[in-house]
Amino acid sequence: MTARNRYTAAALAVLFAAALILSAAFTAHSASHECCGEGCAVCETVSQCAALLAGAAAAVFTAAAVSVSRKICMRIGAVRQAERRSTPVSEKVLLLN
Ligand SMILES: [Zn+2]
Repeated sequence: MTARNRYTAAALAVLFAAALILSAAFTAHSASHECCGEGCAVCETVSQCAALLAGAAAAVFTAAAVSVSRKICMRIGAVRQAERRSTPVSEKVLLLN
């Protein structure tokens, strides 16, 4: 990964975190607004913020699940490779009893 890609990724992560924090803050701030009923702009914005937060939660959960499953697969592969290495045939042990 080049330095430019790292900076871009860091900037996008900061913007995403800011969007999440501001969405949560706006949702909490607007929880008790004076609703004008159907077509309320505040309710529509709160709905969009809730959708953003739900999508972010799903993305974080998916990323965590992929990371954990990748680590489990790598661990299983390492164990299998270690088991393969330690056979008497692979060690060329003479069984003369
Ligand atoms: Zn409203």
